[in-house]
Amino acid sequence: MKVEGPVVVRPKFSARGLSEKFLVSSVAPMNDDIGVLALTRRTHEKRVLAALRVRGASSRAQLAESTRLSRTTLSVIVADLIARGAVVVADTDASQRRGSGRPAALLALDPGSAQFLGFDFGHRRVAIAIAGASHEVVAQGEAEYDERSGWRERAETAVDLAWSMGAEHRLHFGAIQGVAAGVTGRSRDTAEPVVAGELAAAFGIDVIVDNNVRFAGLAEASERGSRFSNAIYLHLSDGVGGAMVVGGRLYQGADRFAGEFGHVVVDPDGALCRCGKRGCLETISRIGALEGASPADLDEVARDVGRVLGAAAMVLNPDLIVIGGRVPTEHPGLLARIEVAVEESTAGSAGSRPEVRAAVCGPFAGALGSLIAAIHESPLLAGYDGTVFETAQYPSIGKATG
Ligand SMILES: [Zn+2]
Repeated sequence: MKVEGPVVVRPKFSARGLSEKFLVSSVAPMNDDIGVLALTRRTHEKRVLAALRVRGASSRAQLAESTRLSRTTLSVIVADLIARGAVVVADTDASQRRGSGRPAALLALDPGSAQFLGFDFGHRRVAIAIAGASHEVVAQGEAEYDERSGWRERAETAVDLAWSMGAEHRLHFGAIQGVAAGVTGRSRDTAEPVVAGELAAAFGIDVIVDNNVRFAGLAEASERGSRFSNAIYLHLSDGVGGAMVVGGRLYQGADRFAGEFGHVVVDPDGALCRCGKRGCLETISRIGALEGASPADLDEVARDVGRVLGAAAMVLNPDLIVIGGRVPTEHPGLLARIEVAVEESTAGSAGSRPEVRAAVCGPFAGALGSLIAAIHESPLLAGYDGTVFETAQYPSIGKATG
């Protein structure tokens, strides 16, 4: 139910509420009765929310019919969703009724309920996108941190950002259904558990973590619908990374490192890269090296980018290449040059040339892609298994409630 007056931005989990959430796991062990119960409950919850999304305001009887849940089960699920602020009693069906009898309450999704959170942790800032129960984006924002700050500090900045966005947009966090976070590629091993732990502790739910550029690519691919089922996304920013959609699915590779275009060597005698090799694409196309770039500099960058993309195109035969990140935004002449370079390096190959296009999702692409992963209904995510950090891995969550 919507509470007027001061907005509570910290989720006020009761000990009961939190311990329930704590048990809820998308990968609950099947021999664990409590885990199974929680999983069943969560599945039911999703059915009720999905029915409300599709039908709009509905009575309990209508919901029971469309979810095929028993009245008793439905009433337990609905009571909990109301208590947690996901669902509100919107109205009664009195105006549509002819006969006598008590008018039935109509239930609806609460537009103020933040249900899905997507985070994008870059080298210098974290961005967040928040979606409500109907999957629409209700808020997005960003906060900066020092490039040298640790992952715990970055995660704390992100959590504070979420609370302040909640206050600003009058959102409440009692019924969160999904959280995902993208982190920069090379720091993955150290970043993932720390970020997941902090977010799981703050929001009381499992957290999906993956490469932030892969999530940006997911957003760009989603934006273009099903027209392109084989696509390469190249991100030119402080770091250089990429993502691929192969056969209509977001591609991760054996160890989830697919798409590391930034560390393909283009000049064996080039500058030392932070990965330890010399002359990686990233050392050449970094924004730092491009400040005050001349047309000749841009030609050189485009040639190297074109070579790497051309090689990838020969291997993958994509129908689309999308270029995103800060570098092409700050150097508008770069995209056309890359297009020419890709054409040159794929010349003579059989098959159609890929279209080269600028990214369309803007600086929130990574956060929006995370959000898509948190909602987890995109066909691009069929068979996708980003690392899911279960709340059960973080016993401090349980302890916090006493
Ligand atoms: Zn490198």
